[in-house]
Amino acid sequence: MKSNLPHFLALSFEEIEALGMKLGWKPYRIAQVLAWVYKRYVTDIDAMSDLSKADRLLLSESVTLAPLEIVSRQKSIDGTEKFLFALADGLQIETVLIRDERRRTLCISSQVGCTLDCTFCLTAQMGLKRNLRSDEILNQILTVQSLLSDDERIGNIVLMGMGEPIANLSALQKALVWMISQSGFDLASRRVTVSTAGMIPQIEKLLDGPVDVNLSISLNATTDAVRTLLMPKVNRLYPLKDLLAACRRFRLPPRRSITFEYVMLEGVNDSLEDADRLIVLTQGIRCKVNLIPFNYYPGAPYHCSPEAVILRFQNQLLQAKVRTTIRKSKGQDILAACGQLKGQFAK
Ligand code: SAH
Repeated sequence: MKSNLPHFLALSFEEIEALGMKLGWKPYRIAQVLAWVYKRYVTDIDAMSDLSKADRLLLSESVTLAPLEIVSRQKSIDGTEKFLFALADGLQIETVLIRDERRRTLCISSQVGCTLDCTFCLTAQMGLKRNLRSDEILNQILTVQSLLSDDERIGNIVLMGMGEPIANLSALQKALVWMISQSGFDLASRRVTVSTAGMIPQIEKLLDGPVDVNLSISLNATTDAVRTLLMPKVNRLYPLKDLLAACRRFRLPPRRSITFEYVMLEGVNDSLEDADRLIVLTQGIRCKVNLIPFNYYPGAPYHCSPEAVILRFQNQLLQAKVRTTIRKSKGQDILAACGQLKGQFAK
């Protein structure tokens, strides 16, 4: 059923309060509705059993709470699940649930496609269809969490799905507020990570905005020549020197550090000279390096560096006291790993 009503997840706290006033509600009624949505993850107004039938009807005449429509749900042998969702206009996005022993991490999309044309990333091949609205960003969390049993609680959000999150900054910020506010999903802000290809002015706006979150920057190369090959649009606008100078300037919250993501591409950016340059580039920045083994997809122009090369690269950085981890890849068998997301096109 298509609805032209605004989505509840699109409303700010003030807008929800105003709606409550309009409906003639006492403030606690608003608190009840917020809890149903953000704490109990219901996607059906009729399930709000402590609201009278009349109040449920009033609410459903003002807003919708519809979950995203699931086009497909694939499960990897390692427990990772990839959801393909259809939006109201028929465009599709992907969301990935990553299961660790204890943790549940949701990798969410911020745009349908992407403008940045990074040459190693599958999403780039779609081009940008449009930005997601804040409710579409949040609805990925609500919809997936509503499908999980009570003992599975999404505790980490990474904005590493389709799109460049800070190219859609206002919707992103609106969604981030509900992710970490107490009356919202109430996630610890250190458990929410925004990953960016490195658009400096937007990073500054994000850091100056109302929410503190973790910042990951996709560095991926140690020379401008290679970075422009891999990330042509971003690196022409914001070359390495400017990006790292900005990182030295950023005012991070206490005890926060920047994570530099570095995708390991055989023969492209994985030499010991690269490791040495990376050590110099990151000097004086409170940071950590996360090496991402390249996830191959059919037709990809690159290959992943061999494991021994990745370990050698890590070792070189560790010896220079640069904190360096290697990302464990998940969901490869269902093309749900980093950089493997590409919504099917709706005709
Ligand atoms: N646009 C944002 C977020 C999406 S990409 C950004 O650039 O950070 C999230 C991460 O996946 C980035 O670090 C990117 O470098 C990495 N990535 C993209 N394609 C990949 C692939 N095929 N294999 C491994 N990592 C990939």
